[in-house]
Amino acid sequence: MHDLDMDPEAFRRHGYAVIDRIAEYLADPARWPVLPDMRPGDLRRELPEKPPAEPEPMEDILADFDRLILPYTTHWNHPGFLAYFSITGSGAGILGESLAAALNVNAMLWRTGPAATELEEVTLDWVRRMIGLPDRFDGTINDTASTSTLHALAAARELDESLEIRARGMAGRDDLPQLRVYCSEEAHSSVDKAVLTLGLGLSGVRKIPTKPQDLSMDVAALAAAIEEDRRAGIRPLAVVATVGTTSTTAVDPVPLIAEVCRRERIWLHVDAAYGGAAAILPAMRWVLDGCEVADSIVVNPHKWMFVPIDCSILYTRRPDVLKRAFSLVPEYLTTSDPSGTRNLMDYGVALGRRFRALKLWFVLRYFGVEGIRARLRSHIELARSFAQWVDDDPVFERLAPTRFSVVVFRFRPPTETDEARIDELNMQLLQQLDSSGEVLLSHTRVRGRYALRLAIGNVRTTADHITRAWQIAREAAYRLT
Ligand code: PLP
Repeated sequence: MHDLDMDPEAFRRHGYAVIDRIAEYLADPARWPVLPDMRPGDLRRELPEKPPAEPEPMEDILADFDRLILPYTTHWNHPGFLAYFSITGSGAGILGESLAAALNVNAMLWRTGPAATELEEVTLDWVRRMIGLPDRFDGTINDTASTSTLHALAAARELDESLEIRARGMAGRDDLPQLRVYCSEEAHSSVDKAVLTLGLGLSGVRKIPTKPQDLSMDVAALAAAIEEDRRAGIRPLAVVATVGTTSTTAVDPVPLIAEVCRRERIWLHVDAAYGGAAAILPAMRWVLDGCEVADSIVVNPHKWMFVPIDCSILYTRRPDVLKRAFSLVPEYLTTSDPSGTRNLMDYGVALGRRFRALKLWFVLRYFGVEGIRARLRSHIELARSFAQWVDDDPVFERLAPTRFSVVVFRFRPPTETDEARIDELNMQLLQQLDSSGEVLLSHTRVRGRYALRLAIGNVRTTADHITRAWQIAREAAYRLT
């Protein structure tokens, strides 16, 4: 038996060594530069071309993890990681993830993962309550928001059964109108990808202009676009509203968009992948205003709820339609389980499903709702402090409101008026920040201007890291002038 896999005593020994490594790593991820100093191919060159023919000692494998993997990693768990949407592999989440790997459950059916299925139902109900959605919303976990949005739009396409898309597909049909999805110009590219995947083509997405002051969707323009499309014989399929856009964390006016969708009988999907978590704070509950009447909404616990990647929740009021879009049961997956049991394979593309609810459960219980609130609050306060420093400094300016934990800003020397030159200076500034090894920021464009994004989302990020980011930015700006 022990020859077949690692024997329990060896597992215990190596397991302790792994836990020691994790504990040391988490004690101070800042020992590593956030972004590794390497060129593409550096790691590949150090690895053998062929797999090992013979077993290798675990000690050697772990030593190579230290020697090759740690230094060639971008450290998302570094408290100075302030790029993209910064995330957290929290201690409780890492432990939950480890136990999920030990169980190695594939929760495709209730009977193949009863605990995974039921814990998913319960934890998603907890999160639903935490963010203030009504109990008519039913959740399932996917790997990413991209998948959740793909599933939501597949359900939207399935809503009108008379289109017979499930049975007949879309290709080669002249009885099918062109189908269209609407989202703002600031929506995440996962909307376009979902539309591509569903066979609507990129012309199946219509980008609605945003309001110049806060980059939220212009609802009058949405209504006009829908009307124009209907006149041209195009069938509106869904509107995707965003709560917390990727570039600037803009919030689309969901209540007004919901009203348009109700009037026009169009599926409303809300992308709250990042911003949804903020609704856990009573003072930020407004961000999900209007979502109670949405057809679906995605919230990512792996973004700003301290659950290790991956874990995305798709809530929908129409689980029946989602199931209609995806359920397909071959003989070998039929069961005689009592009615009322849920088979997670029915709610998406994937058959096999990891036990992701376990790490979510660990994180929710370990921090508690109040603990999560305290951390979210602190991130928002840190972002506000940074925003204030930017506002108070004559050579910097903010390019978007700071509603959540992201600050969008740029360096703007008062003597420089050439926008192309200002863009160039900001690219250099970002390069200097990122090459410091102490912090990592990312960039976007706001109304065509190159902008820096400082995104706070890691539980280990404190005022010291934010202060340091500001110091480095100011020193770099000084050098550039
Ligand atoms: N939606 C928004 C608003 C995002 O910011 C992102 C990623 O940052 C996504 C969707 C896609 O997330 P995922 O990586 O989980 O697919």
